[in-house]
Amino acid sequence: MNSASPEVLFAFLYTGAATVLHERAFQLAARLQAPENAVPLMSLSADFPALRQAVQHLDECMAGLGLGTACVACASRPGKAGGCCSAYMAANADLPLIALNLLLGLSCRPQDNGEACCFLGERGCRFAVKPLFCLNYYCQTLQDLLSPTGQNQLQVASARVLGFQSAWEDRLIALLHKRPDLLHE
Ligand code: SF4
Repeated sequence: MNSASPEVLFAFLYTGAATVLHERAFQLAARLQAPENAVPLMSLSADFPALRQAVQHLDECMAGLGLGTACVACASRPGKAGGCCSAYMAANADLPLIALNLLLGLSCRPQDNGEACCFLGERGCRFAVKPLFCLNYYCQTLQDLLSPTGQNQLQVASARVLGFQSAWEDRLIALLHKRPDLLHE
């Protein structure tokens, strides 16, 4: 079997509107979950239990520091267009990230939120694993809210999740390079 060219892979993984990327990720996740792909899926998802723990720890950390409440309150203010979670920010969610969330069992179909990010739900971001930029950005309100200890706690917890994300993306790219049949039905 021929391998996928870098250009084809790049276009598949990183280009297109949120709805297009989600549909592509959805189809890819379905192909990976087919019985004939049990072996590659197993190697792609071997560290999912540890990733789930890291995500849970980060969520608890964010909730404990009051971030979730502050972001949801800001995002839902009339005329705020989602606060930091504006429609423009949805472009930070690429196919590897959406596919990872889908394989973790999360429903994250983009929705029409007007000026706000299409992945924003009533209780905040609907992703379990969030885009790198979103995890690393703290607006002035959050910076004022966080003590140096709190910031450090968050950075450590975020770095752990991002480490898993980066390893996942590397594994997915390596697999798709070898298995271009997974790009299309
Ligand atoms: S992906 Fe999530 S955290 Fe990032 S802008 Fe959209 S709703 Fe906000």
